[in-house]
Amino acid sequence: MVRPFLPFARPDITDAEIDAVVHAMRSGWLTTGPNAAAFEKEFAEFLGGGRSAVAVNSATSGLHLAYEAIGVRPDTEVLVPTWTFTATAEAVRYLGADPVLVDVDPVTLCIDLADAERRVTERTVAIAPVHYAGLAVPDAALSAFAAAHHLTVVEDAAHAFPTLNEGTLVGAGDHAATVFSFYATKTMTTGEGGMVVTPDADLAARMRTMRLHGINRDVFDRYTSSKPGWHYDVVAPGYKYNLTDTAAAMGRVQLRRTPEMVARRSAIAEAYDAAFGDLPVQRPARAPQGSSHAWHIYNLRLNADAPVSRDRFIELMAEAGVGTSVHFIPLHLHPYWRDTYHHTPEQFPVASGEFARTVSLPIFSAMTDDDVAHVISAVCGILG
Ligand SMILES: *Cc1c(COP(=O)(O)O)cnc(C)c1O
Repeated sequence: MVRPFLPFARPDITDAEIDAVVHAMRSGWLTTGPNAAAFEKEFAEFLGGGRSAVAVNSATSGLHLAYEAIGVRPDTEVLVPTWTFTATAEAVRYLGADPVLVDVDPVTLCIDLADAERRVTERTVAIAPVHYAGLAVPDAALSAFAAAHHLTVVEDAAHAFPTLNEGTLVGAGDHAATVFSFYATKTMTTGEGGMVVTPDADLAARMRTMRLHGINRDVFDRYTSSKPGWHYDVVAPGYKYNLTDTAAAMGRVQLRRTPEMVARRSAIAEAYDAAFGDLPVQRPARAPQGSSHAWHIYNLRLNADAPVSRDRFIELMAEAGVGTSVHFIPLHLHPYWRDTYHHTPEQFPVASGEFARTVSLPIFSAMTDDDVAHVISAVCGILG
């Protein structure tokens, strides 16, 4: 029997999400409205309350709003790990500022604070750590680093929902802003979408204004408040980053299903770890005591004595019917970042070296036990 091809990722959508979206569509309110407001409230409650959640149409939009609100401007710099998706850095460029790429820790592949220290200048205003794969940058060290250099922290938490960082959920701490992604492949999804969380009411207000054209009240407020419905004030040249109610309806169900979905991904990671212990690979870093892993990504790093190269491994996995991916092609190797900032691979020795041997395996909550066995037998068949 030929098994169907197992894609690298597939969203975990049940009848509950479908029913919620249909209900929203039948309600007559499609754009940002009651579902988006409830989604924001429920998301903030999931993190323990005491903070604002601002729903947006992508994490990229959320990063842009957060950077703008904290004061990233032309002639300022933001520290960004080179081991990330381009969005973390591109949103800095939207504001005319410069992302300063930083090498990563060889174990976790998260930003290396010792390397970051060497790259701080008088222009540096913020640091944007990426909690790679769903494992957080240890918070005590991050906070101490930011305080020592008077930097604002904007967490790129696109992989880190939900992740415990030294006893506190990512997004529930004191950092200025934490940005989550609900892109189709992420740990919870709205198709496209994101959420910015902040403990600072002024930052939240600025982001809400800039999210919708720089208008100081959103459309839903206009139709429900006691003030004349037609009146609004434009106070800045804002953006169009609001989340639709149909997407928010999906997100509310995904949020409720988060404990079940993260437990499934953890079980898959455990099965992979147990199966790959004797192979010539480095398995992913584990969460230290008091922290947890969201398992958005499970990557293997092929050792020098592996029988095939990383590129050949990817081809052979595809032949065995399994989709894989690479997270990430470091930013300094992409033409735009390389040429704009004159980067060379030698400036980022860890990321450049690890890139050549990393590959990401499927790890999504809709995988069946049979899918997991399929991946394990393909990997062991190639590397065993
Ligand atoms: C997916 C991702 C983003 C962008 O998320 P969108 O919601 O697609 O804008 C940003 N940063 C990282 C690290 C990501 O993986």
